[in-house]
Order: sequence, then C-alpha cells, then structure tokens
Amino acid sequence: MIRDQIESRGVSDPLVLKAMRAVPRHAFVPEKFRSQAEADSPLPIGLDQTISQPYVVAAMTELIHPKAGGKVLEIGTGSGYQAAVLAEIGMEVYSIEILELLGMQAKRNLEAAGYTDLYLWIGDGNKGWPEAAPFDSIIVTAAPPRIPQALKEQLKVGGRMVIPVGQSYQELFVITRTEDGWNEETVFPVRFVPMTGEVR
Ligand code: SAH
Repeated sequence: MIRDQIESRGVSDPLVLKAMRAVPRHAFVPEKFRSQAEADSPLPIGLDQTISQPYVVAAMTELIHPKAGGKVLEIGTGSGYQAAVLAEIGMEVYSIEILELLGMQAKRNLEAAGYTDLYLWIGDGNKGWPEAAPFDSIIVTAAPPRIPQALKEQLKVGGRMVIPVGQSYQELFVITRTEDGWNEETVFPVRFVPMTGEVR
C-alpha cells in the first residue's frame, strides 16, 4: 500500500510514510470490508460516510507539514483513521465529528488500536474548536461549498489548513495564514462527502 499507492504518487515526507506504515488501517474499516482495507479507494463506514483512500490521507497529511508536538484540528473524524495517523506522528489531535454514532465508533476504533490521547468532540465542525485554538494545522475531511471563516481564524500565523471545497466539482485547497491575511492555493481535484451543519 505504502510503496505502490503512496510513495509512487510522490508523497515523500518520512514522518508521514512512517506513520502510514504504523497505523493498522484494518482496525478502522468495518468488519465486512476488512479484506479490502488496503485497497486504493475509499470504503463505506456506515451512515453514507467513508474512510478516505490511503493516498488521499497521506497527501493531505503531508500538505499540512506535520511536526511532532504540533497542534492539529481535524473536521470529520469518520472512522478515526486520519486522526490516528496524526497521533502516530506525535501531534496533539483535536477532532470533531457531527454524527454521534460515528464519533463513538471512532473513539472505540482509536482505543482498540492504542490511540487514547486524542481530544474528540461531537458537534458541528464549521465553528472549529475555539477553546483549543489557535492550531498549527487544520485538516478538513468533508467538503463545504466555501471555506468556513471560523476555521481560517483558528489557524496560527504560519499555520496550514488543507480542505476540499466545492459541490459536484471539488478541489483540495491549502490555506496558509500570513501576518496580514491568508494565502490560498489549489492542489488537485478530489471527491469528499459534503460537509453538513451550518456553513457560515
Ligand atoms: N477523516 C475520516 C473520513 C471522514 S468522512 C477518516 O479518516 O475516516 C467525512 C466525515 O465528516 C463524516 O464522518 C461526516 O459525518 C463528517 N462531517 C460532515 N460534516 C461535518 C461537520 N460539519 N462537522 C463535523 N463533521 C462533519
């Protein structure tokens, strides 16, 4: 999975590759899809949601320029897999899931795989996590129609956010906070489940 799907497509950050090797992806995939856990595609996790494709998880993690000890906010805990990759790198992970059932399942998945040191919250990620802000990095794993202002404001200066934006056509954006505003660049087209809740 790492060599054929991830390194071959250009992900090279050693911290990311090491974490992707260490996290047991099958522990985050529902029983009946376990045999496909390392497939080159997203997989259903219930309630019409999906665990992202391994390459997309690796590429998004690389794009935030992760560092051990950095503080990261994830929107869309889903299965907990992306959160586990960030925790494996040694980041302080805050993750928000809007669907209670998935949030509880993610907590169980993470604990079973030995990741007990994360801050998980059930709620609407459009508002971010103001009490824990500012963050070095923000990873959004559901697509809003536009970038939520609250998330931009919860980035540290120099911090990076990676977020899929759009509806039927989506692109991955990287937002960097600067001294006097934000820089936005697009990376590649993606397909994520829509971000729900109240986009402001
Ligand atoms: N990162 C996940 C994949 C998530 S799929 C993983 O590694 O498995 C996207 C998730 O975003 C879904 O679970 C969905 O319920 C959640 N989501 C959608 N809108 C949201 C919102 N406004 N706030 C928080 N979570 C949201």
